[in-house]
Amino acid sequence: MLSLLLCTLNELALPTLILVCVCFIYVKFASVNRLIRSGPKQNILFVTAHPDDECMFFAPTILSTLKEGHSVYLVCLSKGDYDNQGDVRKKELIASCSRLGVMPNHVTIVDDERFKDGPENEWDIDGLVDRIVSVIKRINADSVITFDSSGVSGHANHIALSKAVVKIHMSKELNTVSFFMLHSSNIVRKYMSFLDIPVSSIFNLTTFVSLPSEIVKSWRAMSAHQSQMVWFRKLYIVFSRYMYVNTLTELT
Ligand SMILES: [Zn+2]
Repeated sequence: MLSLLLCTLNELALPTLILVCVCFIYVKFASVNRLIRSGPKQNILFVTAHPDDECMFFAPTILSTLKEGHSVYLVCLSKGDYDNQGDVRKKELIASCSRLGVMPNHVTIVDDERFKDGPENEWDIDGLVDRIVSVIKRINADSVITFDSSGVSGHANHIALSKAVVKIHMSKELNTVSFFMLHSSNIVRKYMSFLDIPVSSIFNLTTFVSLPSEIVKSWRAMSAHQSQMVWFRKLYIVFSRYMYVNTLTELT
């Protein structure tokens, strides 16, 4: 029985690898990413909740947009003070962004009592709207990218950002800005690693895939978050699809 299973897996390995490669090439070079392939260079703002979100969730999009020549900015709404290591984590965030290619002066770290790091902390949505809108206006952002309503990991701080960005979009005050949300996949796809690339290419138009060199770059950036590198995060960066592929949905 076991030998039959191993034999079957062995026979499936090559077709699976070919399928992944074909989908990778399709997504990387042929799919239409409205976000980055439509006209002039943009100022793109990533809105995150904690130092390390930029690597753990958004690295494929950050690296792809930088490669296309867009200016990438990041606003992180907390310094990640859950374990009282906020000051260390601020420095780690700057180092991580530098390794990704985001300039330190393009990074804004908010240190505000209303937005304390922690899943039990309810962030003030109107306060978030004010802070995010002020950054959008200051950098003259063309596109804004954040979490969707499930927050990828379900973290309450991620979900609060999603609510705030939806509120900004609904207000129509910034009607020249495009808003995108990072799609939260189910638990099976989340840990399919690069094998999720074919699935992502089928179901999404706005998809970003990291090349092998970019995957290494995002691992190096993640290693800047020394205070966070516990064993399960080391597993995460190998198995999480978000280190290899991002799929975004535009708010319309
Ligand atoms: Zn987070």
